[in-house]
Amino acid sequence: MQALLNEILDQVRPLLGQGQVADYIPALAEVPANQLGIAVYGVDGSLHTAGDATTAFSIQSISKVFSLVQAIQHSGEDIWQRLGHEPSGQPFNSLVQLEFERGRPRNPFINAGALVICDINQSRFAAPALSMRDFARRLSGNAHVVADMKVAESEYQHRARNAAAAYLMQAFGNFHNDVETVLRSYFHHCALAMNCVDLARACGFLANQGLCTHSGEQLLTPRQTQQVNAIMATSGLYDEAGNFAYRVGLPGKSGVGGGIVAVVPGRFSVCVWSPELNPAGNSLAGMAALELLSERIGGSVFSPL
Ligand code: GLN
Repeated sequence: MQALLNEILDQVRPLLGQGQVADYIPALAEVPANQLGIAVYGVDGSLHTAGDATTAFSIQSISKVFSLVQAIQHSGEDIWQRLGHEPSGQPFNSLVQLEFERGRPRNPFINAGALVICDINQSRFAAPALSMRDFARRLSGNAHVVADMKVAESEYQHRARNAAAAYLMQAFGNFHNDVETVLRSYFHHCALAMNCVDLARACGFLANQGLCTHSGEQLLTPRQTQQVNAIMATSGLYDEAGNFAYRVGLPGKSGVGGGIVAVVPGRFSVCVWSPELNPAGNSLAGMAALELLSERIGGSVFSPL
């Protein structure tokens, strides 16, 4: 595995310079582009890394997996009264379907869906931002995970689109808490700074039927875990979920910080990071690295070796 990871990074490195670092907020636009890392965390607890695997980055939409898991933990199937689990085929911040579908987001991994999940969590936790930070610490086994408050504040200053989604849902009666408070929690989740090792470890339970290998905590039932993986496989990369299934064939979740986590059920979780994005907002080199990895190990869930 170690040799394979080194080889994969060498193969995708020529892609560096061909994408575009997220620039919708200044704090992300400043991230040096020329970075690439990967970490693979086996269900047996083994860890392999290559490149910039211990450089922290903004997890952004990868946090949507963790907030969904929190919501499933306390509310189970009830959450599906508020949103769906269908792919949207739209960019992550699109508003078009929300109006047609009367304020009910298609899935928890587009922004509107994640905001509803944050609203559900806001009704359950006294301090959702801290609950999420502590959850990320437990999942990763890294007690030093914190949010980058410069990123969180910058997101809030540029919140117009996310605010529009939340207020539209409120107008349809599908938002129960103060919108500005929930937006603050959501941006705090997005601003968590973690590295590839943290995220590979944090997603290990998704490869291990809901069981976190390093803490022994059963986070979800095996069936719930399978369901989260299914939503990742169909909606984890926004309007590029089909392309990701075609090229990589794994449950995955990306963020505009350039991270992508993916899961080979029963084997390992992986996080790859490179800040330059393709036009859909997914890491350009990250996608290529996961495609090579999946191909080389016969990992695609559609045709496992
Ligand atoms: N903070 C970003 C937003 O809300 C997260 C989007 C993403 O990573 N796709 O627009």
